[in-house]
Amino acid sequence: MREEPFQVAWLTGSPGSWRHGFPIRLAGCFLFVALAALLVGSESQTYLIWVSNGLLLSYLLLAPRWRWPGYTAAALAGQVAAALLVDAAKWRESLLFTSLNILEVLVGAYLLRRRSTQLPHFTDRIYLVRFFACAVLAGPMAAGLIFALVSSVWWHHSAWLALRTWMTADGLGIAVTTPACVAIFQTRFRDTVNMRRHLVYPLMLVVVTFVSFHQTRAPLLFFIYPLLVLVLLRLGIGWASLAVLFVAAVGSWHTIRGWGPMAQVVSTTPNGASLRLQFFVASAMFMLYTVSVVVESLRATERRLQEIVSLHKLVTENSRDIIVLSGLDGQPRYISSAVFPLTGWKPQEAVQRPIPETVHPDDLAKIDALVHKFQGGAESGMIEYRIKKRSGGYVWVEGSLRALRDARTGVLSGILQVMRDITERKFAEQQLEDAYHALEALAVHDALTGLANRRKFDECLHHEWRRALREHSPLSMILMDADLFKLYNDAFGHLRGDSCLRQIAESALDVVLRPGDLVARYGGEEFAIILPHTDNAGAMRVAQEVCENLRRRKLCHAESPHGIVTVSAGCATMIPKLGQHASALIASADEALYRAKRAGRNQVCSGDDTLKLLPGVARKSIAAKTI
Ligand code: GH3
Ligand code: MG
Ligand code: MG
Repeated sequence: MREEPFQVAWLTGSPGSWRHGFPIRLAGCFLFVALAALLVGSESQTYLIWVSNGLLLSYLLLAPRWRWPGYTAAALAGQVAAALLVDAAKWRESLLFTSLNILEVLVGAYLLRRRSTQLPHFTDRIYLVRFFACAVLAGPMAAGLIFALVSSVWWHHSAWLALRTWMTADGLGIAVTTPACVAIFQTRFRDTVNMRRHLVYPLMLVVVTFVSFHQTRAPLLFFIYPLLVLVLLRLGIGWASLAVLFVAAVGSWHTIRGWGPMAQVVSTTPNGASLRLQFFVASAMFMLYTVSVVVESLRATERRLQEIVSLHKLVTENSRDIIVLSGLDGQPRYISSAVFPLTGWKPQEAVQRPIPETVHPDDLAKIDALVHKFQGGAESGMIEYRIKKRSGGYVWVEGSLRALRDARTGVLSGILQVMRDITERKFAEQQLEDAYHALEALAVHDALTGLANRRKFDECLHHEWRRALREHSPLSMILMDADLFKLYNDAFGHLRGDSCLRQIAESALDVVLRPGDLVARYGGEEFAIILPHTDNAGAMRVAQEVCENLRRRKLCHAESPHGIVTVSAGCATMIPKLGQHASALIASADEALYRAKRAGRNQVCSGDDTLKLLPGVARKSIAAKTI
């Protein structure tokens, strides 16, 4: 409901209006009221429709309450003046009528404005009901009751007839005139005058009204209603109310003189013609009110819809996310303008591109799967994929999808997707993944030789031990130790020593080629080789090949009796049994290595022999360091 107190500046005198505005408006009120009373009053003693009260009421409803006395006095003076001009001899009656008129308006205005400062708003349903109750019924009834009392006491007229005549003429006058005047005061008629092509309707109405009331044969009266509705729809309630006033004036003028269709019908009551005209005008006004309420509510709905549409447009057009509406086949029907900055495609171009041309070939299967999911009844989903840019290349996006269902039937009608650029996130994820892999590599590789480190060795041995246990397959291990390496370091320094260790590692890697095998740096100048599914003979052969490969490199070692860098190796092979531990295999290989060292280095020994020859030998065991 509108709450715009005293907006009509030219009428109410807001601070912005000009200085002498109020006296001029008072003079206007006086003149308009006097003129209206004079026009209606001079016609007949029986008023079909009394308009000057409606005029005053519209002044009061649009003005702040402190200006009511001024307008009331001006209207009082206007009505008295008009009455004296019509018939000065009847000044007593005139004074009574005028006082009752003013009382009627004040009652209506007070009741209407009692609880709110709301401006009159005749297209609002609730205001309209209040207006009818307070101004059209209560006000005329208050004045009409007094009039009826006076009529029956002084003039011995029928009180009921007096009340009915008063209430009909005045109620109708207020019902027609007040909205008309309020609308006139509030309407910018200048704007509507410019709408020339719509002025044809009021002009047609003028013609039809004159013709209707000037003859009796053709029932042209029926054309007045649709014309009034057209005026209302095209030009608003102001012009429409003005048109009703015009129809009422023309109708009264003719009917009072016994002309026109209202006066022709045979009537049982003396003022049946007047009543018919009054009903005609009242029903016209009622029709205008109802149509304007409906139209206003439709327009309000339209305004709300337009607001929603523009808000929707504002959001979709300014969102950095791309909004895509697709059919059930996944083909877009609408793409918001954010697609342009991201891909270089204009929305209208992007909509027409088939999916295989838009999406990275590797991601097409993902899209297909998701579309199938929706066709199967899924309500939402997420997807990450790459879309093609106009300039070439792809951009990573994340799509958040929702099923679109028909609001009425609930049938799946499409898919809504909110698409977001995740290139930066993908880049960060890739960096994180690379860093993780690098870290993982660091965690399981020996920095000096690039071989698997001790941790990786332990993991692998554990894993292969369990597998061999399951499969009852032989698992072999070679432990190698550089011979007299301390002396090598002493002779060539640690840097050359490091380089020598790398050469030993390469010698092992050159030989150990099978995918399941693992060469690891066990610690210091010691190396370990795990050989799954390998028997002892195979392990011995591998160990000997490694030793031979190193010897072929002929790395100078002056302190060694061989003059070159050599290694000693111990081999061990086991078919793991329940209750045994992988450390037994290490211990066995360690013992074999110990034997190789004792036997003069630069050779390979087998743990099988060791275990047979030296059962339970305890030594400073490297096995103690493992697992
Ligand atoms: P043996 O033939 O009995 O194995 O004699 P060895 O001198 O090789 O044995 P020992 O255990 O006395 O010495 C091992 C040496 O290996 C000691 C250390 O200086 C050297 N060493 C261990 N790790 C590295 C390394 O990472 N780089 C270098 N340059 N030398 C290392
Ligand atoms: Mg050693
Ligand atoms: Mg050594």
